[in-house]
Amino acid sequence: MSPYDPRPEGLNTDPAPPSVVEALRRHTEAEYLTHDLFMGEDADIKCRTVKLVTARKPHSCWLGQARGAKPHEIAVGELHRYEKALVDGDYWGSYRCCLNCMDNEIGDFDGSDDGDEE
Ligand SMILES: [Zn+2]
Repeated sequence: MSPYDPRPEGLNTDPAPPSVVEALRRHTEAEYLTHDLFMGEDADIKCRTVKLVTARKPHSCWLGQARGAKPHEIAVGELHRYEKALVDGDYWGSYRCCLNCMDNEIGDFDGSDDGDEE
C-alpha cells in the first residue's frame, strides 16, 4: 500500500507530511496507523484519531508498560504513534507508542520473519 492511498475507513486522521513518510523504514504509514493494538477488547471506541507525530518532550512508551516489556521512553524528536479516542462514550483515552514497539507488534501479527535484524 502506498502512503498516498486513500485513508483507511473510520480513521479520522490527517496524512503525515512527506518528510515523515520518507523517514519510515520498516512499514508504511498506513500500516503503523491501522495496526490494531486492542484486538479482542470490546470497549466502545469513538472519535478515534491515530497519528504519527514527533515528540516535543519525552513520553513513556505505552507498550513498554502494558506488555511486560522493559519500560522505556520516547525521546524528544522521535517519531511515534499517538492515538486518542473516546472510550465507552465516557472518557478520552490516549497513549503513545514508539515505532520500535510497533515494528515488533506488526511483525508478531504477520507471523512473518524475514530474518532482518537491525
Ligand atoms: Zn516502545
